Amino acid sequence: MRLIGAFFLLVAIFISILLALPSPEGFPILEYHMVTDNPPPESEVYNVPPEEFDAQLDYLQQNDYTTITLHEFMLAKHGKFNLPPKPIILTFDDGYENVYTEMLPILEAHKMKAVVYVITNELGKPGYLTLEQVKDMQRRGIEIGSHTADHLPLDTEGAEMQLHQVRDSRIFLHWSGLEPVYAFSYPNGAYNSDVIEILKREKYLTAVTGDVGLNTLKSDPYTLKRVHIRNPHFGITEFKWRLMKAELAEKLTPNF
Ligand SMILES: [Zn+2]
Repeated sequence: MRLIGAFFLLVAIFISILLALPSPEGFPILEYHMVTDNPPPESEVYNVPPEEFDAQLDYLQQNDYTTITLHEFMLAKHGKFNLPPKPIILTFDDGYENVYTEMLPILEAHKMKAVVYVITNELGKPGYLTLEQVKDMQRRGIEIGSHTADHLPLDTEGAEMQLHQVRDSRIFLHWSGLEPVYAFSYPNGAYNSDVIEILKREKYLTAVTGDVGLNTLKSDPYTLKRVHIRNPHFGITEFKWRLMKAELAEKLTPNF
């Protein structure tokens, strides 16, 4: 019993020290998937209901965050764009149709920006975005990125399949009439140095992972960190806690 007490005391001291450390530099990239009231049961945990999403965007605005795109992040990295005082990037993986039907109207009502990563072989299938919806989003200022052709975890695939997934998804989007895409999201957050080399050769400029933390202009643009926004059980309090989690992760593993 005394041992358990000592353990919790140590944890409490550890967390207090972490919280007392100065806030780490860097801005968050939020990782979303779906925004709907009716997610399929297996996707429930990855879904943020529209009302919650609306409240999250209100919270970001009230706290002076400004959304930017990954394209703007890269421009800033090259001195061609001034980052706002509190930048944040909203990303959506997998290309679900509700990103167009449910998320986009809420985003536009807030005059905010986002990045949407599509799985090209899923486009047009039930529940997924159509090519026309993707084109319309790009016209309306959403940055479109690739989440590969088939959503295979690339770290366990051979070189040929890695290249196919990375290159052909980009070519498909381009040949379908979209402006060139430069943003990439690793399926399941899985990556290795081979995949990064392919991304560079295929002219992608950024890639987001599932690693938790914050990003700065000095961050490697091919291993950008994110904060996963799951279906919240505790409303905006949980959202704030997730933003704080990225800061804590950064304090534990700072980028030198
Ligand atoms: Zn995914």
